[in-house]
Amino acid sequence: MALRWCLAATVFAAAWAMGRAGVPVGVAATAAGLFGLAGVAVMAGLSSRRGMMVHCTAFCPMGAVGNLLGRIAPWRLRVGPGCTRCGACLAVCRYNALDARRLEAGRPALSCTLCRDCIGACRHGAMRLTLPGVSPAVAWRAFAVLAAVLHAVFLNVARM
Ligand code: SF4
Ligand code: SF4
Repeated sequence: MALRWCLAATVFAAAWAMGRAGVPVGVAATAAGLFGLAGVAVMAGLSSRRGMMVHCTAFCPMGAVGNLLGRIAPWRLRVGPGCTRCGACLAVCRYNALDARRLEAGRPALSCTLCRDCIGACRHGAMRLTLPGVSPAVAWRAFAVLAAVLHAVFLNVARM
């Protein structure tokens, strides 16, 4: 995890330094392209082999920023007292957000994207989405409506 933040800091610092130093656009674009290709290599070599989004959780600087910005959203994933520690949710989380320590703490790691795969995998109803002031069922519906609306908006913007 620390490596991820070091990598993100290095990338943003390098972009800033190149801008300050007046590095030609072609050189900066080539550097960015090579970094992108390294990400594709991580995707092909690690993510696909492990069935985990390693490129998101350990490589991409924007993934790190996205995880931080995601904390703005009021929804949270929580592990309730009904958890039997069966481990089914751990097996489906592709964002490396769950492990035994996280289950014990009752919440996933920062890398959680609220994909909700773990909720579907939990046969004990212990995993739930929360929203302050409302029941988990209402939180789920509100999340689904917001996700559908945002998808529709972005799809329409993309068509313009
Ligand atoms: S699937 Fe449900 S019961 Fe099993 S470890 Fe995860 S939260 Fe606990
Ligand atoms: S919501 Fe998705 S990313 Fe978050 S803990 Fe569950 S499976 Fe992992």
